[in-house]
Amino acid sequence: MNSLGQFAHGSFGNRHELLMKTAERPPFELVRGRGVWVEDSNGIEYLDFIQGRGINSLGHSPDVLRLCLTRQAGLLLHGGSQFHHRNTLDLAQVLIDHSCFDEVFFAGSGTEAVECAIKLARKWGKLKKDRAFDIVTVTGAYHGRTFGSMSATDKTDWHSTFAPLPHGFSKVAFNDVDALDRSVGRHTAAIIFELVQGEAGVIPATPEFVRRARQLCDMHDAMLIFDEVQTGIGRIGPLFGYERFGVEPDVVTIGKGLGGGLPISAVLVKKHASVFSIGDHGGTYNGGPLVTAAALAVLQHILAEGLLQRINETGSYLSASLAQLSACYGLGDVSGLGMLLRMGLPGPIGPKIVHYGHAVLPYTASGYWAGRGLLLNSPRPDCLRFMPALNTNRSEVDRLVDGLSSVLAVISRQDLDPW
Ligand SMILES: *Cc1c(COP(=O)(O)O)cnc(C)c1O
Repeated sequence: MNSLGQFAHGSFGNRHELLMKTAERPPFELVRGRGVWVEDSNGIEYLDFIQGRGINSLGHSPDVLRLCLTRQAGLLLHGGSQFHHRNTLDLAQVLIDHSCFDEVFFAGSGTEAVECAIKLARKWGKLKKDRAFDIVTVTGAYHGRTFGSMSATDKTDWHSTFAPLPHGFSKVAFNDVDALDRSVGRHTAAIIFELVQGEAGVIPATPEFVRRARQLCDMHDAMLIFDEVQTGIGRIGPLFGYERFGVEPDVVTIGKGLGGGLPISAVLVKKHASVFSIGDHGGTYNGGPLVTAAALAVLQHILAEGLLQRINETGSYLSASLAQLSACYGLGDVSGLGMLLRMGLPGPIGPKIVHYGHAVLPYTASGYWAGRGLLLNSPRPDCLRFMPALNTNRSEVDRLVDGLSSVLAVISRQDLDPW
């Protein structure tokens, strides 16, 4: 890097113009990763506290996954979703054994899992509630980008850009128990929300809201759906986030961390919520032998290594370290659950911190950061979100704090008043 703000990531060319412009991406190409580190095509290494938005539960390319994928690639890649596969059944067994649910549907992404849950709710309403179809959603929600999941998501611009969206989705203020009371009734097929809202900037549901949603669903015979695509698979402590809240939903969606980097998601249901008949739902790639082998390896590793017992501990350590840093630079609150954390910022400087993180070197006295950077995530400009690999250790947390501190030091020197 020559001067502040100008990054020497080498010649990047314009091949990025071949991609539809649907996301902002920094000008480097990631080529390999190991644990908390990922490297670009110029040999610059980045300490990764995003991990693909919490996808890589065990970090980049962990041995367990490399071995299991190599083995499975030599056995069977795709048999077809019209056949049984041993891995699929083994994975279903592990998920059922470690949850309050009875049946599973596998899909390929979080969005697809949500879409499946929405269809289940609609069918439930038709069959069991006199054709009730309304799905109660909450402000700040993120559930995906297909038509059904967009309808449940609180993004006003999508609702106008892609109109008309399917109707039958009402919205209440997140964590507002009275508003929830007023919105659930005869017409309600389901309530859906995240236990910790991710895209909204890491905002946990209150225990009262979660409990009240359960009560209302019981009173009105509606389905309670937790979208745990982000909070599931240990992210906030237990294997499933609902365990932490002590409230069992009828349906849960999981994804992200489940495949440890491979595209697999699932919908888990209690028996009474399993209302699909043959032909109602499906997908060519769903529950294939390769992705289910990966998810099985991830889950078995998490359970065998006792990772779940360490998540709150490492999360607290990260949280305390971030809080110290935040106090030092006059930033905002540090909050969140388990290893899904938020650091508030005093203004819309998240993108700037992310940008400067890509080359920490120039700001540090020590030689450590030469040729190294940080990958950070800012879901909203006024906060950072941390979703490290579940097996991240304390010295890796210390490294992060060291790098972030250097980035903050230079930004605070640049814009003194205020930021
Ligand atoms: C990421 C996310 C989704 C969408 O998952 P994809 O795999 O990106 O389709 C849905 N719900 C929640 C809560 C998420 O965090």
